[in-house]
Amino acid sequence: MSQPFDAAAASTAYRSALDVIRAVEPRVADAIGQELADQRSSLKLIASENYASPAVLLTMGNWFSDKYAEGTVGHRFYAGCQNVDTVESLAAEHARELFGAPYAYVQPHSGIDANLVAFWSVLAQRLEAPALVEAGVKNVNDLSEDDWTALRRAFGDQRLLGMSLDVGGHLTHGFRPNISGKMFTHGSYGTHPETGLIDYDAVRAKAKEFKPLILMAGYSAYPRKVNFAKMREIADEVGATLIVDMAHFAGLVAGKVFTGDFDPVPFAHITTTTTHKSLRGPRGGAVLAQHEFAEFVDRGCPMVLGGPLSHVMAAKAVAFAEARTPEFATYAQNVADNAVSLAEGLTKRGGTLVTGGTENHLVLLDVTSFGLTGRQAESALVDSGIVTNRNSVPRDPNGAWYTSGVRLGTPALTSRGFGAAEFDRTAELIVEVLTAASAAPAPSGGTSKAKYQLPDGIAEKVRAEAGELLDANPLYPGLELSK
Ligand code: PLP
Repeated sequence: MSQPFDAAAASTAYRSALDVIRAVEPRVADAIGQELADQRSSLKLIASENYASPAVLLTMGNWFSDKYAEGTVGHRFYAGCQNVDTVESLAAEHARELFGAPYAYVQPHSGIDANLVAFWSVLAQRLEAPALVEAGVKNVNDLSEDDWTALRRAFGDQRLLGMSLDVGGHLTHGFRPNISGKMFTHGSYGTHPETGLIDYDAVRAKAKEFKPLILMAGYSAYPRKVNFAKMREIADEVGATLIVDMAHFAGLVAGKVFTGDFDPVPFAHITTTTTHKSLRGPRGGAVLAQHEFAEFVDRGCPMVLGGPLSHVMAAKAVAFAEARTPEFATYAQNVADNAVSLAEGLTKRGGTLVTGGTENHLVLLDVTSFGLTGRQAESALVDSGIVTNRNSVPRDPNGAWYTSGVRLGTPALTSRGFGAAEFDRTAELIVEVLTAASAAPAPSGGTSKAKYQLPDGIAEKVRAEAGELLDANPLYPGLELSK
């Protein structure tokens, strides 16, 4: 585990906690133990997941969970919030210093909440509340499609320009099934059809034509760095507010792998993040802002949030303190270096990567050259002990459900201590499974897009070989739940 911890103390803490839980509902205690066993025994390559330290995890299980603390530090709607004030202030202070941000808001419960706070802050800052009142809005849950259209008109038919979902953007960046797609008229920019890279001239041209209120940068499945200085230039040229969602790569920003033009914080008006992905903190979100937006972001509760999860804010303070250490900077660099090893390991064995490689923590493998859909590849891999998620590739012929790719990320296994050699071996195992797998026959004739078949023994063999890598790099070494 790249974050040092006292295994004997953690073992005692978890054993005692499970004893207390077992006395009330033993099945929950068993499920918690089983979850650790399962996580220990698979190659976790989900790019958005990680392993938080025992200190972060233990900070969440306490009486802060019982406390209501709506409002902000020193300005609460409930009495008795002095200890919540302490942990919220600490988390915000660590976040400001970690990211060099003028202002940090650590209340969002998740990444989607952080983006909602950011969006409403921009609307509030630009337009202020009277437009909402004029539109007769009492309860947003009661709004029909027509109401949303009327509301958008009241806000001046506001537009948001974000990265297209099929080249790696995120649902919360203005897409229809998400509330952001109802709040804003949405436009999207793609990537260059040949290189797969963001084409900043094309983004500029689109922004000039579309004239967005918000230009959104950030992604879930784009394997390259983004030049945020250029994004800000474009935003300024069209009078847009630049929001960067660094949910995926916040750990690389914190660890100073992304610096200069590739560090979003100095360039974005508002930067949003999750805290549980590459940043390796508790499940949650945060918003960083330039001074001019601070007062509006601060209205996150009650604007779109209820009572903050004080126990999670406490865990954010611990995680941000960890992320300020030299060990975390080494970890973040290893995450990026390991992604290169994984990418090279796949390409030298015949794999095709979107953009041809990686500059961050993730690799997008196009599995069509193996004759598989993403869904089949995902299933064949998970049955062989390798956990990934299927993902669209640009202009995906198999659509968003079956897809043609799998997304592979290095943050979790790097936390376990995997280095270049282990990621090269992981690439070998992935290619072994995908080469052996084929589409299963469909009952109606032809082949299925969902089901796969593997020759006997392959899944077991790969699982055993993955087990050797895992045993050599144990998760939470020394932490034992049974005496
Ligand atoms: N933003 C991006 C870029 C993400 O990838 C995600 C989650 O996958 C989110 C926001 C939403 O985060 P959460 O699941 O914490 O709401």
